[in-house]
Amino acid sequence: MRYHFAFDLDGTITTKEILPILARELGMYREMEELTKKTMAGEIPFDQSFTKRVQMLKKIPVSKVQKIILDIPLNKHVVAFIKENRNRCHIVTQNLDVWIEPLLMRIGAPYLASTADVSGDRLKGIKKILRKKIIHSVVDYPIVAIGEGFNDLEMIVDAPLSIAFGEIHKPAPAILDAVDYAVYDAQQLCLLLNRLL
Ligand SMILES: [Mg+2]
Repeated sequence: MRYHFAFDLDGTITTKEILPILARELGMYREMEELTKKTMAGEIPFDQSFTKRVQMLKKIPVSKVQKIILDIPLNKHVVAFIKENRNRCHIVTQNLDVWIEPLLMRIGAPYLASTADVSGDRLKGIKKILRKKIIHSVVDYPIVAIGEGFNDLEMIVDAPLSIAFGEIHKPAPAILDAVDYAVYDAQQLCLLLNRLL
């Protein structure tokens, strides 16, 4: 049985949550960080919180958002694993496609993301928020799901094998209850992933 691997983006591949970093542009880092933390813990429904956070951030031109996101530090071990196994790795994120595309192009693995309405360099709004469990119908292989936020739960519960990755953030309690493994170090995570190849 050959597994494919589905990685969350924020806090799994990136070493920081993306939306609070964008909010810094508007002087709203703390407010956004608080909202993001509560959402990751499952205390606020994701769709409601994401819609609100996108509303706050849509003042920033799309090209500027893309540039800021390209500068966000990445977990080099996780990125190296993905690059070495591109044909079996997928990035599954509810972040907006138009914001993260340049970063995902750089990593070079296929991805699923939420979609946005854009006019020129302006974000008009969210077109569709991705349901992470869709990865299991898009890919014809059993999936190893890797994530940490409450919004990863739906891809984790349907996965034959799942891993909470807690190096950046403490995984949400519901995630820890649902996963097969919890790993708190990127090198350990990659050792485990390499054994599952
Ligand atoms: Mg995450």
